[in-house]
Amino acid sequence: MNVLIVEDERQLSHEIEIFLTKQGYQCDVAFTGKSASEKIYVNSYDFVLLDIGLPDYNGFNLLREAKQSGKESAFIIVTARGSTDDKITGLDLGADDYLSKPFSLLELQARMQAILRRKHGLKNNTIEINGFVLDIQNRTVSFKNNPINLTKKEFDILHYMALHKNRVITRVQLTEHIWGDVLEEDYESNYIDVHIKNLRKKLSVYGNTDFIETVRGIGYRLNMA
Ligand code: CA
Repeated sequence: MNVLIVEDERQLSHEIEIFLTKQGYQCDVAFTGKSASEKIYVNSYDFVLLDIGLPDYNGFNLLREAKQSGKESAFIIVTARGSTDDKITGLDLGADDYLSKPFSLLELQARMQAILRRKHGLKNNTIEINGFVLDIQNRTVSFKNNPINLTKKEFDILHYMALHKNRVITRVQLTEHIWGDVLEEDYESNYIDVHIKNLRKKLSVYGNTDFIETVRGIGYRLNMA
């Protein structure tokens, strides 16, 4: 999952970045509205954490623009303490949630997970695929209670594909959401295929991995009822 942190208070931005990186998120940061606007335009983020009070830009305009251009990112707006009007305006503009300053990072994480569950129709923080169980909160995978030792990237790939099941996920999408900013030529390289190969190999020790389908020349699809 990739996150854009839009926050002009550098210390706070840094704390959020460190925390979310530890939780397995790929973080990108913008300190100004202008920079945020450009990043949102060019990239597709799973989450945008958006401070409404930016020095150069009204955060609501940014949200409005992003929504109008059809961006699918989940927006969590960050408002000044007690500004109920801001919360209402943000939600009306299509924000998925809001936090008031100061907020706890654990609350931020819980809200992000709640948004993911809502968006992807999950009842709890686990996803089951053919006997494999992904624990999203603890970032682990097991099969009949046997823990499977995946690397961070292998877990991220499986997690992303499971959330977007039955859809073709292109190599570009996987690169963007799991690695963040990458060079153009990386899209052509086969490093994603190598990760998928290793993932399949590790899972196949326990069960059938036919649910991970290779879509030739495009990417992958995780097939799940
Ligand atoms: Ca601010």
